[in-house]
Amino acid sequence: MENKKYDILSLTLEDVEKIVVELGEPKFRAKQIFGWINKGMWGAEMRNIPLALQKKLEDVCEFRLPTVKRRLVSKLDGTVKYLFELIDGEYIESVFMKYEHGNTLCISSQVGCRMGCKFCASTLLGRVRDLEPSEMLGQIIAAQKDTGERISNVVMMGIGEPLDNYDNTISFLKLVSNENGLNIGLRHISVSTCGLVEKIDRLSGEGLPITLSVSLHAYDNEVRSGIMPVNNKYPIEKLLDSCNRYFQKTGRRISFEYTLIAGKNDTQEGACRLAAILKKYIHGTCHVNLIPLNEVEETRLESSKNVNGFKNKLISLGINATVRRRLGSDINASCGQLRRQEKKEDK
Ligand code: SAH
Repeated sequence: MENKKYDILSLTLEDVEKIVVELGEPKFRAKQIFGWINKGMWGAEMRNIPLALQKKLEDVCEFRLPTVKRRLVSKLDGTVKYLFELIDGEYIESVFMKYEHGNTLCISSQVGCRMGCKFCASTLLGRVRDLEPSEMLGQIIAAQKDTGERISNVVMMGIGEPLDNYDNTISFLKLVSNENGLNIGLRHISVSTCGLVEKIDRLSGEGLPITLSVSLHAYDNEVRSGIMPVNNKYPIEKLLDSCNRYFQKTGRRISFEYTLIAGKNDTQEGACRLAAILKKYIHGTCHVNLIPLNEVEETRLESSKNVNGFKNKLISLGINATVRRRLGSDINASCGQLRRQEKKEDK
């Protein structure tokens, strides 16, 4: 039986060094190989790697990038939405967005999601599997190759719950920021979570200066449990306490995401109550990122008409708040919708 090959793009530089030395080659080759694979090059494309080593590597390692199954380009703002196919035929989505501060890629962390948020398309079919670190990196590498542009910022806000795939997410963060690889600074990376308290505590001790985004979406437990089942396990007080601990330990300001849903969480009184809980639990600055709901056919929830009113109320109460720009609104850019469509059409 053939031995399982290493998934080389998931390996650290030190791991690659070990393999290169075991293959009887000089250690410095590892850095070159690590550089090539992070550009999406393999085999003969690794031009300064001797043919014999290219072959030996192919015997013990495998290298695969996600392939572009569908590609939608927004006519409004140049946003590109990718449906990527993985090695086992599963689909994930990534979104390439142009901002003044650079190009941002929104990546997926799992195939599907098991968190069950009521407004979200990604969770409708449950979770199939976790993504490997190589598959998270692969989205960035494939998008850079496809667009020909450098990606300088990454947000883990695509399909999946990154902290439900904790170890692979941490490995990914270390790999993506390696100066010999993609070299994207951790300060330019946001990790978004629906609020897994133990994992937030663990993350605070990793020494990774990422931005933590927490999907709050509600000002009390009744509203939050109604739209986010995870709140039954980790109610708001516990979640906000862990956010405060995170801030105290890392000094990194937390960004709270708040999707405004008509008749659910979007009243002026709601804004007052949100400001009050943030002031009560977070002893420092924080930021609220208001997201107009992207309507998903299956959920029947509607976008709020009070986005600016809600924002202005928060600001008048001393809470930092901005409304997320809607990019790619003509291409169904909110996460999970393309994969869902593709799955339906496959049947
Ligand atoms: N699982 C992580 C990251 C993926 S979701 C999390 O929950 O944070 C990224 C963000 O998009 C989250 O804030 C999520 O609540 C929000 N979101 C999901 N579906 C949405 C929709 N239909 N409209 C607006 N925001 C949505």
